[in-house]
Amino acid sequence: MTSCSWIPSAAPYTASASRRMPVAAAAASHSPADCPPVFTSCASKARIRVPVCRCCFNRQHHPNKESPDVAVGVFFAGHLREMMHFTSVMTHAPRFLKTRIAPTPSGFLHLGNALSFLLTQQLAEAHGARILLRIDDMDRARVRPEYVQDVFDTLRFLGIGWDEGPRGAGDFEQHWSQLRRLELYNEALRQLANEGAVFACNCSRADILRVSPDCSYPGTCRARMLPLDTPGAAWRLRTDDEEPLTVFLRNKENVRAALPAAQRDFIVRKKDGFPAYQLSSVADDRHFGIDFVVRGEDLWDSTLAQLYLARRLGWNDFCRTTFVHHGLIADDSGEKLSKSAGATSIRHLLLTGAEPAAFRAQLRARLRELPLR
Ligand SMILES: [Zn+2]
Repeated sequence: MTSCSWIPSAAPYTASASRRMPVAAAAASHSPADCPPVFTSCASKARIRVPVCRCCFNRQHHPNKESPDVAVGVFFAGHLREMMHFTSVMTHAPRFLKTRIAPTPSGFLHLGNALSFLLTQQLAEAHGARILLRIDDMDRARVRPEYVQDVFDTLRFLGIGWDEGPRGAGDFEQHWSQLRRLELYNEALRQLANEGAVFACNCSRADILRVSPDCSYPGTCRARMLPLDTPGAAWRLRTDDEEPLTVFLRNKENVRAALPAAQRDFIVRKKDGFPAYQLSSVADDRHFGIDFVVRGEDLWDSTLAQLYLARRLGWNDFCRTTFVHHGLIADDSGEKLSKSAGATSIRHLLLTGAEPAAFRAQLRARLRELPLR
């Protein structure tokens, strides 16, 4: 192993170590004498990411080509993607398997979404992660075909590619909609029901607001013992466990935090019978092998709720996911941007003939100022 000592050690892999093959196992597949100099074995290949041996970065030596342990970039001078990969290797940035871009087709995407996608792309490159495109369409009342199409139009406009996921709206409907994975979510819901971890709740939002101005759930239905199959009732998770949650952060300043009051007894199955966002998101991240999540700071509470849910379900692999939360951009009045067809939508830029390269350059400039944690 001595001739490969420049390669990132096992330390950066802490957050998701269980999903990766141990370094020792990779090293054991050949002797140190097999290790070529840095990049020698990859520099002639025109592939951006290839499965390679962590020890010598040589594809031939990879001990398990069906399930590659790491995916590394190939360095080409002058190419940003490879340049960023090279930088990450040389600075020993932690490496991750896969991240995701996960828009919701409930409105036209806006500048804030675009910024988040670009940041995800940049960080994926910096950390050697593949990108999954996952379109979250469980909000059945608000999903519209034009919003699904808008996701693809926006990503094309931004010049963002992805390694896995639907290639277009038709492919999405046929193969990638969350409706195709209902059994995955229902299995988790059944587990929670069988373990007595959920209760039925038929409170309306107005009911809750009357007794709880901050909209945190006051526990109204906890003791009512409504049957879980009560028509129009949601399922809430009993959040009695006060053990703090650990959020693994990219900067390694991991945070221990309790579930926020706003997430007390959060909903895991909606009144319409479909899984709630927290449940479908965790189940999907686990299903697709996501070990790196980039999202807005407004989803910090969701991160904690999802970690809570994963712990309750015994999904320890999700609990080791590494997160980045980024600041949000606001509109002129200081409010968080919302999905609409207005001036901040990407659709508006597309329709008014905005120049993609100039727009991307502007967004990248803003990215540099975006606070991350
Ligand atoms: Zn209730």
